[in-house]
Amino acid sequence: MIQSVRGTKDILPEDIHLWNFVEGVLKEKSKRYGYSELRTPVFEKTEVFVRSIGEETDIVNKEMYSFPDRSNESITLRPEGTAPLVRAVIQNSLIQQSNLLRLWYYGPFFRYERPQKGRQRQFHQYGAECIGSDYPESDAEIISLACDILKGVGIKNFNVLINSLGNNLSREKYRKELIAYLSKHLLELSEDSQRRFEKNPLRVLDSKDEKDIMITKSAPSILDYLDKESIEHFEGVKNILSKIKIDFIIHPKLVRGLDYYNHTVFEFQSSELGAQDSIGGGGRYNQLFAEFGAKQTPAVGFAFGIERLIIILDKLIEKDKLIQKPDVFIVSSLTPDDDYYLALLKKLRNMDLIVITDLNRRSFKAQMKESNRIEAKYAILLGEDEKKTNSISLKRLEDGFQQILSVDSIGSFNFVNK
Ligand code: AMP
Repeated sequence: MIQSVRGTKDILPEDIHLWNFVEGVLKEKSKRYGYSELRTPVFEKTEVFVRSIGEETDIVNKEMYSFPDRSNESITLRPEGTAPLVRAVIQNSLIQQSNLLRLWYYGPFFRYERPQKGRQRQFHQYGAECIGSDYPESDAEIISLACDILKGVGIKNFNVLINSLGNNLSREKYRKELIAYLSKHLLELSEDSQRRFEKNPLRVLDSKDEKDIMITKSAPSILDYLDKESIEHFEGVKNILSKIKIDFIIHPKLVRGLDYYNHTVFEFQSSELGAQDSIGGGGRYNQLFAEFGAKQTPAVGFAFGIERLIIILDKLIEKDKLIQKPDVFIVSSLTPDDDYYLALLKKLRNMDLIVITDLNRRSFKAQMKESNRIEAKYAILLGEDEKKTNSISLKRLEDGFQQILSVDSIGSFNFVNK
């Protein structure tokens, strides 16, 4: 038997209702905040990611699905959504048309990671990006949208961690101090962190290695190195979040995995998730447009991992409640090409009902049994008698109540509310 690729999952009909529910909330909340969807291809030129995410990151170093295509161009299955979206905004000159863009995206992403609960090689992300404002209210809007989505799907217990990486000047000053501190402990650091130390020392703060965590505990805090502009921005974000009653935890070690963040970074965590406790996160990325060779454009955004939302919701939501049961099952002894039967089927489907029929030419009794098994609201019993009298026999399956309806009165019958 051919199996699916390691780290990929089928989403089966029994689970799709939960996915549809989540996708509905994502769309609805995005709309409420005035965000429009932008869809980019699932693969891009490799440089889109190398240039933006940064060479010394796990994603670029070890996790990208990159391959030469048949004309030897290096192609990468997208590992994240911000870089492709920025590429699309620049390429399609969207930012010239409007000085503020509110965009969202949703779809599959690909990273060659070691699969475990909440970590796959193909996974799904929803992300929102607010492009064109350097003011703290845009950071607050993005964080507020993320929280509204979590609450909208029914997740109440989550932590919002925030930090500031400051502007370039502050970050540079801090970088130097951090290098001075870490170089005293260099040989005690994990191999990964020693490598990161060389190219991107801030990322050592991100390490999950226990010894690294011990060492970075006494490292200098970025918050002590923020200059006036950076402090003002961070205070502005915190002020609005407090006023709109979003509780947050300041986490000075939060730097997030990608290179392109500055000023505000944030993460949403849930204890329901175990080791992979991050539902999602994001931050401000004022330099990314310039990295792509475009005019510098301030922007802030976030992404959620949908599989992680589903893991949490699987325990919280009664999945049965999300399933729409059929309104009608047609139990018929007429032939499958009978004109009366086919006309009725068409009429019912045009009424926007969920209508199911037997396609295996089973006996009347077996069809009746099937109508109960699939928990249809009504069975419509159809035979020569009904055909002759231009009527149907309607059976409410909940209590067995049966009545005869003329074909003409079907249109006004309320099948949906029993
Ligand atoms: P990132 O783009 O790394 O900031 O990830 C944002 C969110 O996407 C994470 O918090 C996870 O919820 C989700 N995510 C990232 N990588 C994976 C993965 N390999 N499998 C499942 N979800 C993931």
